[in-house]
Amino acid sequence: MEKIKKCPNCGSTNDSIFTNCAFCNTPLPQIDNESISTETLVSEASKWVGYCYEEFINLKDPNNPTEEGIHYDHGQVRGIADQYINLLRVRSLSNPQLTSIVDNLAIKMEKNIKSRSKKLMWIFVGFIVGALVLLIIFNFERIVALF
Ligand SMILES: [Zn+2]
Repeated sequence: MEKIKKCPNCGSTNDSIFTNCAFCNTPLPQIDNESISTETLVSEASKWVGYCYEEFINLKDPNNPTEEGIHYDHGQVRGIADQYINLLRVRSLSNPQLTSIVDNLAIKMEKNIKSRSKKLMWIFVGFIVGALVLLIIFNFERIVALF
């Protein structure tokens, strides 16, 4: 069983590839990435790939629920997901069974990023349409008077 990365300063649990605590930025005990099990890497990778659909995420440490939590914007989430995928990609060179898992993660990540852009586009369209409708409602008499 591998060790969970626990911050020596605040006691928060951190992802296995993090070098500094996400919550207080204290350097975490160094562990060789090779010693992280493939299962852990895959499950942590899927978690970050899933977050790629979101605009941002706010993570709370389960050990420390009173904490405000840590904010990640979309770019940071993508960066972390990429790190995991690259690590797994390297590992798949000596473990061919892993190749399709890594490919699927990469495809899922692209999908989530595209869905996020579409979602943003529809929010934008909705906003414009809403603004136009309000403009027409509040200026209805003036618009009618034009004709
Ligand atoms: Zn910490």
